[in-house]
Amino acid sequence: MVINFDRTAAYRCPSCGEIAYGDFSIFELSGTKAVSIQCACGQSNMIIAPENKNNFSVSLQCIVCDEVHKFSMPFQLLTKKDCIEFACPNVVVGLVFIGRNEAVRNSVLRNEQYVEEVIAACGLEHTGKNGVTMLKALDKIQDLSDNENLYCECGSNMIDVEVRENDLVLECCQCGTSITLSADAIRNSDFSHLEKLILKRKK
Ligand SMILES: [Zn+2]
Ligand SMILES: [Zn+2]
Ligand SMILES: [Zn+2]
Repeated sequence: MVINFDRTAAYRCPSCGEIAYGDFSIFELSGTKAVSIQCACGQSNMIIAPENKNNFSVSLQCIVCDEVHKFSMPFQLLTKKDCIEFACPNVVVGLVFIGRNEAVRNSVLRNEQYVEEVIAACGLEHTGKNGVTMLKALDKIQDLSDNENLYCECGSNMIDVEVRENDLVLECCQCGTSITLSADAIRNSDFSHLEKLILKRKK
């Protein structure tokens, strides 16, 4: 029997929205050493670290909640399973995939298809890598609107939302004032913690 100690790790980058891939060997995780997988964009990473004799911990910033999630991964799983998946505990979107290269790539593909189906079911199209970000933004906009914290400086709260591939546009139905929010800006700002969103005409 040939034992293969090489593993591939993939995660959804909270900064650029792409899936980041990295390779490591189980031997690199011995003792107290951790492995860091970094996205090609350079803005995020995922840490796999020994937790105790039997477990590793996997931690990363979540693209959906903007919080750091920490998952526990038993050493046995890493040696036995072809691909281990961890999803965000708040929204069922696959965040982390660790295992043998081919199995990881297949799981990522399956998860991307699943995310696309969810997005299509929400009436969105062509969002590509920004799908998760757009869903999260729409949820937040709905929340602001429900609490009367989304309005235009003209006083109207009839705001139209249009989702495009890389950004979304909010437009006042009364005076036509609009603002554009890019997916990058939504991911890399405090958007999910906004208390108010007011449309203002550019001066
Ligand atoms: Zn990235
Ligand atoms: Zn999350
Ligand atoms: Zn207006």
